[in-house]
Amino acid sequence: MSNELHDMDQAGLQAVADDKGLHLAKVTWVHHWTAGLFSFRIERPSTFRFRSGEFIMIGLLGANGRPLMRAYSIASPSWEEHLEFFSVKVEEGALTSRLQHLKEGDHIFLGKKPTGTLVLDALLPGKTLCMVGTGTGLAPFLSVLRDPETHEKFEKIIVTHTVRQAEELAYRQFLEEEIRADEIFGEMLKDRFTYYPTVTRGEFHRKGRITDLIRDGIFRNEVGVVEEDRGSFRFMLCGSMAFNKDMGALLESNGLVEGSNSEPGTYVMERAFVG
Ligand SMILES: Cc1cc2nc3c(=O)[nH]c(=O)nc-3n(C[C@H](O)[C@H](O)[C@H](O)COP(=O)(O)OP(=O)(O)OC[C@H]3O[C@@H](n4cnc5c(N)ncnc54)[C@H](O)[C@@H]3O)c2cc1C
Repeated sequence: MSNELHDMDQAGLQAVADDKGLHLAKVTWVHHWTAGLFSFRIERPSTFRFRSGEFIMIGLLGANGRPLMRAYSIASPSWEEHLEFFSVKVEEGALTSRLQHLKEGDHIFLGKKPTGTLVLDALLPGKTLCMVGTGTGLAPFLSVLRDPETHEKFEKIIVTHTVRQAEELAYRQFLEEEIRADEIFGEMLKDRFTYYPTVTRGEFHRKGRITDLIRDGIFRNEVGVVEEDRGSFRFMLCGSMAFNKDMGALLESNGLVEGSNSEPGTYVMERAFVG
């Protein structure tokens, strides 16, 4: 993809990045899951550090000649050499209508200040970490799941992913098979990791909103939660505003308290998008 506007070359884009205090990073891999979802990787600038679960601003050159930036959760763990992102494609979206055409070798702008609350630091110690994501809200959990610190701090790890149609269960094969076969994580996750996909429309073996499945006790039965462990569950939530609100209320009615970086709690949440 040309980085548009004036088909500015890499040196020109680098000058804009320098002027705006941004990195310019090269795209190394692109994968399209469906007509509405794709993932891509960029080279990680050597000075770029983040905590697994954080988000960062990324973007392209806008029509006004300035960077057009949006918040993105980093889907890769903090030790990985590249940075991976999992993106929606919004047809009329200012950024993603163009971002979806990224090709290997293209360049994007990358912010310098990662931040966020879906981090281990914002949670009190517990036994089970349950990461509940809808749509692209899975992204930060792909990062946290592959952080060795997560496995030091928690005995059990659950990742739930709710989408409309089964084909939108991006990373399903990775979560069901590949990570379990991984040299490092296979052993770490053995008997300790549950992937819990759910689909709200269309055919699938597990149907329904995760909020309902939890509220109705189906989740508890399926993942085998024992009563005495309930108090040691910690949650991370990432979805639409309505989902976060609903799920947050459900957790609070069960006595959980929202945490932050400055005041850790028993659950944390981040919006997967503004809308
Ligand atoms: C903290 C944070 C983290 C984010 N992380 C990601 C991420 O990892 N991946 C990602 O694709 N987006 C993420 N977003 C959303 C992202 O910032 C942009 O909104 C998205 O890239 C679309 O940009 P746009 O300019 O094309 O459209 P926008 O003008 O930003 O959005 C247009 C409309 O599209 C819908 N929309 C936007 N993003 C999504 C989404 N992710 N899923 C469903 N509907 C959406 C909303 O209704 C929105 O009003 C995040 C947002 C926040 C606040």
